[in-house]
Amino acid sequence: MITAQAVVFSDHGEPGDVLSTHTYEINEENLDANSIIIKTLASPINPSDLNQVQGVYPSQPEKTTALGTEKPLAVGGNEGLFQILKVGSNVTKFKEGDWAVPTSVNFGTWRTHAVCDAEQMMKLRNPEQSLADGKKQGLTVNQGATICVNPLTAYLMLTHYVKLTSGKDWFIQNGGNSAVGKFATQISRLLGINSLSVIRDRPNFDEVAENLKKEYGATQVITEEQNNSRDFNAEVKKWVKETGGEIKLGLNCVGGKSSTAVARKLGQNGLMLTYGGMSFQPVILPTSLHIFKNVTSAGFWVTALLKNDLELKQKTMDKIVEWYEEGQLKDAASVETKFDGSDLAKFYKEAISNSKEGKQLITY
Ligand code: NDP
Repeated sequence: MITAQAVVFSDHGEPGDVLSTHTYEINEENLDANSIIIKTLASPINPSDLNQVQGVYPSQPEKTTALGTEKPLAVGGNEGLFQILKVGSNVTKFKEGDWAVPTSVNFGTWRTHAVCDAEQMMKLRNPEQSLADGKKQGLTVNQGATICVNPLTAYLMLTHYVKLTSGKDWFIQNGGNSAVGKFATQISRLLGINSLSVIRDRPNFDEVAENLKKEYGATQVITEEQNNSRDFNAEVKKWVKETGGEIKLGLNCVGGKSSTAVARKLGQNGLMLTYGGMSFQPVILPTSLHIFKNVTSAGFWVTALLKNDLELKQKTMDKIVEWYEEGQLKDAASVETKFDGSDLAKFYKEAISNSKEGKQLITY
């Protein structure tokens, strides 16, 4: 018997108020033929996980009594890295020791162990398998546990909608210093696409811009003030002209006037994808951009795009894994805390309250 813990909620509210620990037993001797028993290696706390607990996120985990409770409840968390402990007699896609990530969102990753259908997990090469396959290195636990949202978001936004010509074309993004922004910058460099990153004005702008160029391969980095300046546009046009391409794609995670200025820099028929709203301001686009430049503004939600397209998810993940294994992609660092075996919900609640210090990752 394995004694497992999960961080659960039956009612919505502030995480500190509604999350609790549910302890349950997993019988290893009684495993369904198509099921697997998995052990969690790590699971992060993402802002959208908290929004789910609060009840303000459009995608929600189903509340069930599957863990043997009287009241239906959901397990928190969407991203996570797992190790296969045992496979059912019909399962061929996994063997003991393999690494896996959830096939879909809403799996409930804030738990020590789970029993699930093998189809609910996708295989990820573990470090021994990467080395045996001749790769330079294996994935770290942080890279595996955080692969499903930010890196996939950046790759898909850059590749799924607009054909950007390597060596010539550009994309522009605000929130250039965000985790998604840094992935987008690195991936565009790997694809040979030029990047123009807008970041908020700050006293150490030169230092941050230099870091984005040197460490992440950004082509140009500008401030929000420069983004909003009509005079500075001439400089941007000069950079773009030098490469013989166009700014065909804009990635917007800020909204407000930052997004208006991003859209203004797009070329004819350009596309702006809005994937976040950090400023809580609406996206407002000048009418002339629509009429005379045929600029399109659309939304991007990785959950919706990949929900019914597992082939695309696998293909995208394979690409990110390959770059990690070759040491060509840097992950976004997390603040890692190892679970000490005590009360799991207490652990997560403490990590949630530390979220301002960076992305929290609970390891096991
Ligand atoms: P991070 O926490 O790494 O970065 C947040 C960024 O937002 C920072 O660069 C910060 O700038 C900037 N920022 C914060 N407040 C403001 C503001 N008021 N005005 C302008 N910029 C601001 O976030 P992530 O990279 O993890 O996520 C970025 C956004 O993308 C989030 O909104 C997230 O929910 C969303 N997202 C959406 C997905 C989708 O499928 N739609 C998938 C993944 C993420 P600074 O550096 O100056 O502090």
